[in-house]
Amino acid sequence: MGSKLVARAVLCRLLFPRFFSSANSHFEKPLSVPPDRGRRQKTPYGNPSRWSWQKTGKLQMTLANEIVMSGRGLHSGVKSVLNLLPANAGEGRYFIVGADCTKIPASLSFLEDGTRLCTTLIKNNVRLGTVEHLLSALEGLGVDNCRIKIEQGNEVPLLDGSAKEWVEAVREVGLSVAANDSGITMERLALVVHAPMNFFKDGSFVVAFPSPKIRITYGIDFPQAPAIGCQWFSCFGMDEHVYMKEIAASRTFCIYEEVEQLRMNGLIAGGSVENAIVCSTSEGWLNPPLRFHDEPCRHKVLDLVGDLSLLASNGNQGFPVAHIIVFKAHITDSCLMKADKMLTLSQGKYD
Ligand SMILES: [Zn+2]
Repeated sequence: MGSKLVARAVLCRLLFPRFFSSANSHFEKPLSVPPDRGRRQKTPYGNPSRWSWQKTGKLQMTLANEIVMSGRGLHSGVKSVLNLLPANAGEGRYFIVGADCTKIPASLSFLEDGTRLCTTLIKNNVRLGTVEHLLSALEGLGVDNCRIKIEQGNEVPLLDGSAKEWVEAVREVGLSVAANDSGITMERLALVVHAPMNFFKDGSFVVAFPSPKIRITYGIDFPQAPAIGCQWFSCFGMDEHVYMKEIAASRTFCIYEEVEQLRMNGLIAGGSVENAIVCSTSEGWLNPPLRFHDEPCRHKVLDLVGDLSLLASNGNQGFPVAHIIVFKAHITDSCLMKADKMLTLSQGKYD
């Protein structure tokens, strides 16, 4: 794993300087170790004290039918066609990319380390960018196993800048219980956090507390753009209904004065007012109306769900069962670095 596991910025982060770097980050020890680790289920990453994979009582799911979607990538502007197909239980979510049909699992192990402007997966020098909104929708709706074939280009289409169209497409075909080649179903496991974990840097932080259900509290602060300003958003008991109602439709956002240079340099050839809400530091929102009064903050949660979905493996749930509290933009980086650290610790490399 190693350096691959430093997270890349989510889509909206392309609009701002990077906030975190692995060189400056630090991680604190958990505050306690639960006494009952012996009862926890054996996991792909060992049996750590900080978290473990536990049964959810639900079966792994997949799509009931094929989905075909097309659109342009934000950075290249190239039009791509995606086929989302049902997959066997235990296969998880994975992409088929390029002429050689390279299989890239949607996993932290294949997260690219570097300076790219979106969440990018890489395997054998084959890249696929801007995966976060699609993966957010699949994680949010409980599509545990999915084969995603992309034709042309190396980016997932941006669509309207949210997960709304992905959600609508999944809802249209519906889900079905996934089975393996022998027709056997599998129970979905979830990562459960057992001890508080935290990350602080320059006034920003992410904290994960043990919680019986998923809870997310997210704050952002953009004093240079008063129309955004400081916003907080919370959701409790995250499931597909909460995701669809509160999260999925929120679009990526940008600050006009900060993206002009990117646009002039051709780095966001597919970007337009059709796939992002644009805020001027002096004029406020340039393409209203917003879908939520706190749409930027909700979109950060959308990205968070997508990025943490990369913790999934073998068709299990990616988003940890915990109360995760995040403050300030770009914190998703630290979430993933934390996740990286958690996984690495669980492998005993730093113990
Ligand atoms: Zn985004």
